[in-house]
This record gives sequence, C-alpha cells and structure tokens, in this order.
Amino acid sequence: MARRRIKTPQGARVIAVANQKGGVAKTTTVAALGAAFAEQGRRVLLVDLDAQACLTFSLGLDPDEVDAGVHEVLTGAAEITDVLHTTDDAVDLLPSTIELAGAEAALLSRPGREFVLRSALEPVLADYDVVLIDCSPSLGVLTLNALTVAGSVLVPLQCEMLSHRGVGQLLDTVADVQRILNPDLQVLGILPTMFDARTTHARAVLADLPDRYGVPVLEPPIPKSVRFAEAPAVGRSVLATARGSKGAAAYRAVAEAISAGWR
Ligand code: ADP
Ligand code: MG
Repeated sequence: MARRRIKTPQGARVIAVANQKGGVAKTTTVAALGAAFAEQGRRVLLVDLDAQACLTFSLGLDPDEVDAGVHEVLTGAAEITDVLHTTDDAVDLLPSTIELAGAEAALLSRPGREFVLRSALEPVLADYDVVLIDCSPSLGVLTLNALTVAGSVLVPLQCEMLSHRGVGQLLDTVADVQRILNPDLQVLGILPTMFDARTTHARAVLADLPDRYGVPVLEPPIPKSVRFAEAPAVGRSVLATARGSKGAAAYRAVAEAISAGWR
C-alpha cells in the first residue's frame, strides 16, 4: 500500500497510554494504534516503558537479545538513535529490557527525575508525527516520566466493573502532573477495550463511563476477540495478522478519530 506522508507542523504528538491496572490492553492498544497511524502514512515511534517488555516482544524482538533499550537511554549509557529498531509494522520501537525494572529505583535519587524521558526523546521528536508510550501497570516514576513528556494521555479500560477501580486515582495523578510537571497535558480519553456487546453488563459499563469520569470516551469501543491473543506470537499487531477483523477496524477508527483532531 502506498504510504502518504502527512506532516504535522507541531512535531510529534506524544501520547502516553496508561492505566495502573494490568491486562486492560495498554500494550495491545499501543501496537494496534501505532500500526493504524503508520497506515495513515504517519511516522510512528513506540516506546516500551514496561520492564515486562511485552510490547517489545509483541513487535518481534526478543527482549533478552536486545543489547540496549530505554533503560540505557534513561541512564545515559546509550544514545537514543543507537537503540531504535524498525519493525515489520512500519513503526520504530524504543525497546525495553528487564533492566528497566531497576530504573525506577535509579531514577528516584536523581534531581529532575520526572523529566529524564523528556530529555531523552527530545533529539528524535522532530523525526516522528506520533509517539505512543506503553506505560507499566503502576503510577511510579516511569509513568510520571511518560505523563511529563506527553501531550495527552489515553486510558484503556476493560469493560467490566472491577477494572474501574484505579481510574479515578490515575486521573488524580494526571491532575497533579498538570499542576506541577506538565501544564500542557490533556486527557485524550478513556478507550473501552475487550467490549463484549452481547453482555448487558458490558453495555451498562460502557453507558456509565462518560458521566462517571467527566472525560471523553473514545469510540468505537474495541471488541473482545481471540484475534488479539494471536497477534503478538508472530511479532505483528492485529492490524497485520487479522487485517479485516472487527478489532483491527475498531483500532483504525479510533486512530482516525484521534488524528481528525490534528488536521
Ligand atoms: P496491558 O498492557 O494493559 O497489561 P495487554 O495489551 O497486554 O494489557 O492485554 C492483556 C491481554 O488481553 C493480552 O493477552 C491481550 O492479547 C488480550 N487482549 C487485548 N485486547 C483484547 C481484546 N480486544 N479482546 C480480547 N483479548 C484482548
Ligand atoms: Mg502491557
């Protein structure tokens, strides 16, 4: 497919994908939206900011064989341009390794610790239209780094009641970051994931979202589908492994909805 190049004059839009609950489809969302933005002809960088390195793995890299990644960039041991990888999904990746687990503690004693990722990404921001950051399931200093460099935050939310706990806390953290670290940070919205339209419960959760948090709810919700579990094993996102699936279509539509606000 021919790729259109669309220049965004403001430089890269940096979107942090965050929710301190695990298993809500943060990583899946970063991979799928990244592929969708690349299909639009945009230059995309994905940042794996989770020591579990699931994004790195799901884009076809073995985290154990990655020489240097985001950890080395954050600690100043490597230049960002030396550790970026290109992937089969036509997006670039700043990979993670298990070493990142130690970064949280190492950063804690540093002055300006919330700004380390921002400085690290600065040299390459002009090379991309979109940067998506896959956050770890915590509200620790790495996630604060993501929220400090980001222009907006996207919150994937599984459509079941239990997963709601914590979103209020995340939005409180976002408010703190807006006040202290990054006044430009916006809440792009909640993205309902793993939505099963057949259950009344999931429909009720979805209907309740806009009032509950007072932030935008992105559409369409991402349907629950086994296709999502299959994609990481072959190192591609669902947009490549199940091109015509409803899940791929939903992520393309969400990417369109997000980028419509940019033109
Ligand atoms: P997180 O990064 O928030 O921990 P993941 O993206 O790793 O979440 O997703 C958790 C699990 O749910 C993975 O096994 C993934 O394949 C699966 N998954 C993600 N999105 C969907 C979906 N829409 N339908 C079904 N399974 C999904
Ligand atoms: Mg993840």
